[in-house]
Amino acid sequence: ITILALESSCDETSAAVIRDGVLITNVIATQTVHENYGGVVPELASRAHQQNVVPVVHQALSKANIRKSELSAIAFTQGPGLLGALLVGTSFAKALALSLKKPLIAVNHMQAHILAHFIEDPKPAFPFLCLTVSGGHTQLVLVEDYLKMEIIGQTRDDAVGEAFDKSAKLLGLTYPGGPLIDKYAREGNPLSFSFPPSEMPGFDYSFSGIKTAILYFLRDQTKRDANFIQDNLYDICASIQHSLINMLLDKLIKAAKHYKISNIAIAGGVSANSGLRAALQNLVPAYNWQVYFPKFEYCTDNAAMIAMAAHFKYINEEFCSLEVSPEPRMKFGV
Ligand code: ATP
Ligand code: MG
Ligand code: FE
Repeated sequence: ITILALESSCDETSAAVIRDGVLITNVIATQTVHENYGGVVPELASRAHQQNVVPVVHQALSKANIRKSELSAIAFTQGPGLLGALLVGTSFAKALALSLKKPLIAVNHMQAHILAHFIEDPKPAFPFLCLTVSGGHTQLVLVEDYLKMEIIGQTRDDAVGEAFDKSAKLLGLTYPGGPLIDKYAREGNPLSFSFPPSEMPGFDYSFSGIKTAILYFLRDQTKRDANFIQDNLYDICASIQHSLINMLLDKLIKAAKHYKISNIAIAGGVSANSGLRAALQNLVPAYNWQVYFPKFEYCTDNAAMIAMAAHFKYINEEFCSLEVSPEPRMKFGV
């Protein structure tokens, strides 16, 4: 089984080739046009995908030394994501499948973030709990099998990646600011400042309150001292990151206890965060957990994870028709 997969849900244009479940190539073109806007500009993202999709697919196939005729199927991200961005990948995949007369596989981007864990060893054992933390989502997912997973908790407003990026923007850092907060946090004291966590019922999250608290805190401090941010950047980053991580892990601990699960994974862009990884690792002795971290290159958006998900769908014969459309708010569940 040889599958070509495309990812174009946000600001990464990516193509990957997977053969019998083994990743062969994963090519990613990250769009830089958004850096000065403090977030992804949807129209610019679509145009950049249009420019990048052909060279990225070409590179993935030529690096894999594979001809199009050898492909068993074409896979793409159907959603969730930006409509215009998803349209580029979807249309390209449909056209390719039609011309090659190959089956088409539609993949859910959030499921794929989780399935990135199966690209390389060590692979989590079922059932496991996955905390998926990315730019647009924050979900606690009970994973029972490759394609059998259920969301047991999620954010009611902002995603945690958004909280990182918006805080970074308030600090004058370029988009996406999450990785920069991570970097500066390593040099700071996480207990310098405190931001109150929001209480949500069950395993749900809310990050809009803490975001506003950070906004007011920075505004008030800057009024008092114009150089406040500059002089305290490392401590501010460490404190923000610490507060966000505590909120994430608090619900994860509750969910693990409730479902009596000790296999714990994290996924999505924010799972690259070194503070989150360290804090999760620190919980291992207390709870007797088995924890799984994806490789850094498979945390943020990539087509390798789409290819991995497509491999499992191919085995299950879950193909889609050429009439398929992108689904910007695509859900998954059992
Ligand atoms: P979604 O997957 O929800 O559709 P997305 O695809 O835009 O959203 P990802 O590519 O999975 O999101 O992740 C991007 C997010 O990860 C950004 O918010 C970015 O700031 C954040 N991020 C990446 N690395 C780090 C890090 N080291 N620390 C904190 N945040 C990080
Ligand atoms: Mg991105
Ligand atoms: Fe993503």
